[in-house]
Amino acid sequence: MRFEHETLPQRVHFASGDARAAVRTEVERLGGARVMVIATARQAERAKSVTADAPVVVHHDDVAMHVPLATAERARAAAARHDADVLVCVGGGSTTGLAKAVALTSGLPIVAVPTTYAGSEATSVWGLTEGGRKTTGVDARVLPRAIVYDATLTLTLAVPMSVASGLNALAHCVDSMWAPRTDPVDQALAGEGIRALAAGLPAVVAGPSVIEGREQMLYGAYLSAVAFSSAGSGLHHKICHVLGGRFDLPHAQTHAVVLPYVLAFNAPAAPHAERRIAEAFGTGSALEGLQRLRRAVDAPTALRDYGLGEPDIDDSVPAILEAAPADNPRPVTADGVRVLLRAAWEGADPA
Ligand code: NAD
Repeated sequence: MRFEHETLPQRVHFASGDARAAVRTEVERLGGARVMVIATARQAERAKSVTADAPVVVHHDDVAMHVPLATAERARAAAARHDADVLVCVGGGSTTGLAKAVALTSGLPIVAVPTTYAGSEATSVWGLTEGGRKTTGVDARVLPRAIVYDATLTLTLAVPMSVASGLNALAHCVDSMWAPRTDPVDQALAGEGIRALAAGLPAVVAGPSVIEGREQMLYGAYLSAVAFSSAGSGLHHKICHVLGGRFDLPHAQTHAVVLPYVLAFNAPAAPHAERRIAEAFGTGSALEGLQRLRRAVDAPTALRDYGLGEPDIDDSVPAILEAAPADNPRPVTADGVRVLLRAAWEGADPA
């Protein structure tokens, strides 16, 4: 056996109901004396309570989806104006993304308190948009130094968003099975992530305010992001990145819809991944496991429901071909991408 694996340096708390103490601990460890808190206006009260024991100098609620450059510049200016020394972000991937944009230019350490299953908190990937173009990059400075997972903060995440976000996490796991840098450690994490998410998601749908299902989801989301961060973007993420960036589609829902089509496309050419995913679902085939879960949680089914127009299908093919990983298990052709996208657009059976 020969492979190289890099584990990213990060402390993680699973602290249901106890985010406030864990945030305080992590801010102290970082020597923080001037904390900038980043959260949307909707989550402002929650962010205040979670950071009540930290030396906060500013609460910043100017957050927007996909981190527009102007939003990032305003947050960077606020951090400088208040001479912040630690960033605490409380929210979904958009909020974590804004903290990363500040860290990218300032080097300030981040304590992330996630409230969705997007997983950005466990990666060193940043993203910014300018004039409708999304740029992403990898930089060690943006990796949060610590994560505080508190499942009680996710109880308010509505069921449809929980489903979409949970399938976004599941997509990290599935794509990690064949992504460019995948290795046995990533695959072990991804397999356990699939198991946790497949158990947690139906539990959240059946009882959105039951803490155990929410805890399983955060655990699975964390594993999924660690696997994805190490394995890199596979075909699924490349497709969603192109679609999301070009047509401003909602992130989690796009991942939720596209995943079965990429799995159906790749699995026959990736027997090892097929077996690992099926094992994690406890089903005869990987696609059967995914589709059973999707039906159980009433998953989003068609990209046309989320703003993709029919002409956008042909329009996206060249960009997807350019972005597709060279070593995808199955060769990626224009016809193959077109058929996949059309099926995802109309919500056809992926099998
Ligand atoms: P989001 O952060 O935009 O949140 C989605 C919606 O849910 C928002 O309206 C938000 O206000 C609401 N919300 C969040 N938590 C809530 C809660 N607990 N209760 C009630 N409402 C809540 O979306 P997201 O799907 O979490 O993140 C998507 C963004 O993250 C995208 O920009 C994507 O590119 C980025 N992302 C980055 C990485 C990375 O590694 N860099 C990984 C995954 C996602």
